[in-house]
Amino acid sequence: GGAFLSVRDLKVRFRTEDGIVKAVNELNFDLEAGKTLGIVGESGSGKSVSNLAVMGLHNPRNTTIEGSIALEGQELLGLPQRELEKLRGNKMAMIFQDSLAALSPYYTIGRQIAEPFMKHTGASKKEGRARAVEMLAKVGIPQPDKRVDSYPHEFSGGMRQRAMIAMSLVCNPKLLIADEPTTALDVTVQAQIVDLLKDLQQEFGTSIIFITHDLGVIREIADDVLVMYAGRAVERGTMREILKTPQHPYGWGLLSSIPRINASVDVPLRPIPGTPPSLLNPPSGCAFNPRCEYRELVIGDKCRTERPPLERADTDGHLSACHLTPAQKQSILTEQILPR
Ligand code: SF4
Ligand code: MG
Repeated sequence: GGAFLSVRDLKVRFRTEDGIVKAVNELNFDLEAGKTLGIVGESGSGKSVSNLAVMGLHNPRNTTIEGSIALEGQELLGLPQRELEKLRGNKMAMIFQDSLAALSPYYTIGRQIAEPFMKHTGASKKEGRARAVEMLAKVGIPQPDKRVDSYPHEFSGGMRQRAMIAMSLVCNPKLLIADEPTTALDVTVQAQIVDLLKDLQQEFGTSIIFITHDLGVIREIADDVLVMYAGRAVERGTMREILKTPQHPYGWGLLSSIPRINASVDVPLRPIPGTPPSLLNPPSGCAFNPRCEYRELVIGDKCRTERPPLERADTDGHLSACHLTPAQKQSILTEQILPR
């Protein structure tokens, strides 16, 4: 395939004291150059784990990974740590929800931004500092030539998130993985960070994987969307398809749990009832079946006995994994979900 990033049949397993956790199962996706793939799901759905595997940041002592992760045609699985380190920060970078954990309290913001740049380019300290000032300006930090000498605790949460973005983009990586980067921030700052990422993507041509539990954020940034549940892709499509004509009961649940910006009346949010399953011992059949309010519509006991394959939904590229018939999905969508 010619995709910029291509993940095939990815399986991630953890050994724990209680047994094997099947964290990611037969996951497939492509990311095109310069585009944003949103990966959405609750915590424990495998969205972070699969991307830590892409970055090679999993713990090799208790984790096994199978399948293929190809970045511009280069297979990443099985690369020695030394090779992965060269790629990390340089060709691919990751930002996290918790900027306090990602930034060291003991070094200035400027030094932490300059470090990967100096490491990967051989730039001098002075050049590194100048680059840090430039990056702080790009991410919208006021008075960057002064703030470059600040410590993380002297920044607000939103500013630290910007600094972390500056640090991740300092070597102009082609791939940026953003794992819930706005989750800890208030709504206004969230929107600013999303806008910032979009601007930087325009400027640098970065391909982005944006991981979130919030379909509302996906709407703002993603071109394509992968919905994960219990370590599997349950739906995949364009952002428009996932938001306008979702084809999976879990996607319907996510849709009902985001605020409608265009609603003329306040539509109450409906959180999805129940909790995600344990991946030590996932439910048989469709992993969503214990929480699914539509399983009785499926003939026989199929939802509890047969895992639904990820297959074509309403359009070519739109896939969903659910035993409901296309006609059933269509009528539930138009009669129950969209009017909410
Ligand atoms: Fe619900 Fe059955 Fe579809 Fe799973 S396969 S989402 S349980 S209807
Ligand atoms: Mg996570």
